[in-house]
Amino acid sequence: KAKLRAGESTCYYENEHDESMMKDLRIANELTAALRREEIDVHLQPKVELSTGKIMSFEALARWNSPELGTIAPDVFIPVAEKNGKIRMLEQSLLKRVLSWLKTRQDKGLELSQVAINVSTDHFFHHSFIPYLVDQTAEYGIEPKWIQLEITERIGFVDIETAYKVFKQLLNYGFASSIDDFGTGYSSLSYLQKLPVTEIKIDRSFINNMHEQQTLAIVRTIIQLAENLGMRVVAEGVETEEQKRMLLALGCRIGQGYFYYRPMSLDEANLL
Ligand code: C2E
Ligand code: MG
Ligand code: MG
Ligand code: MG
Repeated sequence: KAKLRAGESTCYYENEHDESMMKDLRIANELTAALRREEIDVHLQPKVELSTGKIMSFEALARWNSPELGTIAPDVFIPVAEKNGKIRMLEQSLLKRVLSWLKTRQDKGLELSQVAINVSTDHFFHHSFIPYLVDQTAEYGIEPKWIQLEITERIGFVDIETAYKVFKQLLNYGFASSIDDFGTGYSSLSYLQKLPVTEIKIDRSFINNMHEQQTLAIVRTIIQLAENLGMRVVAEGVETEEQKRMLLALGCRIGQGYFYYRPMSLDEANLL
C-alpha cells in the first residue's frame, strides 16, 4: 500500500512538472511570434530626485499583452525568453523602441532624458552586445550618454574579469551603466570597487524593510559605499513618505517607486 502511494505521488509530481513545462513551451512559442510581430511594448518608469520629485532619468520595462495568453508579467516571460535564447532579440527590440522615442523627441527639439535598458546575463556577455549598441545609437543619431544599461547583481558576476572589460567598454563609448537589485547577489561589497559602473540600485526588498534595524544598517552601508566610490545610488521601490524621509536622512538622493510614478507608456511619458 505504502509503495502504491509513493508511486502515486511520484506520478503526481511528474504531471505537475510536465504541466509547467508545457506552459513555458506555450509562452516560448507565443513569445517568438510576438517578437516577430513586434508586440512587445516598452513602458518607462522615472528615477526621481527624492527631495523634489524631479525626473532625473527613466527605466525601460518590457510589457507583453498577448492576444492568445493575455497580459503576462515580465517576471514570467523574461525567464522564459532567457531559457529559450530569445532574450537578446527582445532586449534589442526594446533598445530600438527607446532609440526611436528619443530620436522623435530630438527631431522635435524636445528635451532628452537618459533611459536605462535592462540587460540579461547572456546578452551582457554576448560578443555582439557592445557593437550592436554602438551601431544602433549611431544609426538613430542618439549620443550614447542617453542610454544606460542595467545589469542585475543577481548574476553574481561569476566572470568578474570579463564583466570588468564590458563595463569598461561601455564607459569608454560614453554609455551609462548600473548594477540593478544590489544586495541580492552573492558578491561581497568590496568586489564592487573593481567595476567601473556609474550607478547602483538598492533592491526593493531592502527599501521595504528599512523599519528593521539590520536592514537599515545594510541600506546605510550601501549608500556610503556608493558615495565613497563616486557612484550614483538609486533606491528601488519607494512606496511611502516614510521611506522617502528615511532615505533622505541616510543621504540617498535618487529613488524610483510607486510613491512618485508607476511605469507608463511612451505616450504618457511625452505628457510629463
Ligand atoms: P527591475 O529591473 O528591478 O525593475 C523594477 C520592477 O519593480 C518593475 O517591475 C517595476 O514596475 C517594479 N516597481 C517599481 N516601483 C515599484 C514600487 O514602488 N513597488 C513595487 N512593488 N514594485 C515597483 P516589472 O516591470 O514587473 O519588471 C520586473 C522585472 O522584470 C524587472 O525588475 C527586471 O528584472 C525584469 N525585466 C523587465 N524588462 C526587462 C528586460 O527588458 N530585460 C530584462 N533582462 N529584464 C527585464
Ligand atoms: Mg532594472
Ligand atoms: Mg531593479
Ligand atoms: Mg529589483
